Amino acid sequence: MTVSWQAQVSLKPYNTFGIDVKARYFTQAHNDEEVREALQQARHSGLPVLVIGGGSNLLLTRDIDGLVLHMASQGRRVLSDDGKRVVVEAEAGEAWHPFVQWSLQQGFCGLENLSLIPGTVGAAPMQNVGAYGVEVKDVFVGLTALDRETGELRDFDLEECAFGYRDSLFKRNPGRWLILRVRFVLSHVLQAHLDYGPVRQRLQEQGVEQPTAQAISDAICSIRREKLPDPAELGNAGSFFKNPVVAAVLVERIRARYPAVVAYPQADGQVKLAAGWLIEQAGWKGFREGDAGVHRLQSLVLVNYGRASGGQMHDLARRIQADILERFGVELEMEPNLY
Ligand code: FAD
Ligand code: NAP
Repeated sequence: MTVSWQAQVSLKPYNTFGIDVKARYFTQAHNDEEVREALQQARHSGLPVLVIGGGSNLLLTRDIDGLVLHMASQGRRVLSDDGKRVVVEAEAGEAWHPFVQWSLQQGFCGLENLSLIPGTVGAAPMQNVGAYGVEVKDVFVGLTALDRETGELRDFDLEECAFGYRDSLFKRNPGRWLILRVRFVLSHVLQAHLDYGPVRQRLQEQGVEQPTAQAISDAICSIRREKLPDPAELGNAGSFFKNPVVAAVLVERIRARYPAVVAYPQADGQVKLAAGWLIEQAGWKGFREGDAGVHRLQSLVLVNYGRASGGQMHDLARRIQADILERFGVELEMEPNLY
């Protein structure tokens, strides 16, 4: 069997920023065998390989002079169920949100706060996706990945993935492991996380007194739809910067000048600042130059109004970073993966 490649493919439909760059070659993998074959063919041709899922955490700044391998593997299954805890597994190419909805329909709780995050199951461990007080690591059991250096399959458990805030072993070693499938431990009993942002309030507004996992998911979807631009309508990659975790003494210096600074103390004594608040204070909310801009409702989200290049988006990001450093003494780190 030979995996067919297309040449000179526009990646515009494959990244949620809608950046129009080309892949020298493009192919899709539907199973492990096709993954291996694509990697082997690329090695024989001396081509680098960029693996992508939903393209919702990418900033493409140039044509990709190699093979772009789009993960399209499908499949979800229950591996074990003892009546309380359920272990489920999904293939890397499964779309994340439909997978979350499937788990809720089975009566499994645990993924509800991670509703409506774009992208694929395979990419979720990359940056330990998180929202509304829950991260993938909270429901993670293990994953199977292909070591692109040795060609061997390897299982990783929770500890081995070294998850951090929007971070993991895989994010720190780009291109080394190709994630094939991921396992999660879910529960028949709901442990509701409602204390983050406006979740509890939204449920109250909806008249929900005893929320189910599905009701929490629905509330979070409604909040997200109001606040975040839909990539199908306005190109974006979600939060463009990570929330910086900084020394408490720096936050006190900032608070002296900006008493309303939004800051969350962490267990280790450091403090997480809301990057969106810093950017908004600096006057960037709603900024637009050409087709590159900062979203008018959520300053953490950079947007492509149509024909911005990846380079233009990156330039805007660097200007914001420099301004925030000068004003607040805080370094903002980009969240999307830059190519
Ligand atoms: P891609 O963008 O395709 O890839 C991301 C990185 O992972 C790349 O480096 C790629 O090479 C690598 N990769 C992809 N698949 C694999 C694989 N199978 N094996 C190895 N490497 C792989 N993120 C959050 O954490 N929380 C949120 O709430 C959130 N909300 C968002 C809202 C919007 C509107 C958007 C556009 C983005 C949001 N994101 C959020 C970011 C993004 O959706 C997630 O990071 C998502 O997990 C990326 O998945 P993807 O399949 O699109 O990855
Ligand atoms: P928000 O509710 O307006 O909150 C602003 C920031 O404050 C968030 O970034 C969040 O940090 C932090 N925060 C809020 N309540 C907190 C609490 N109780 N304890 C600690 N930190 C708190 O944020 P939003 O932009 O609408 O996003 C809502 C959630 O979805 C957040 O968790 C956010 O991370 C996630 N999200 C992520 C992306 C992405 O691309 N990564 C895109 C959209 C939304 P955290 O970001 O650390 O949670």
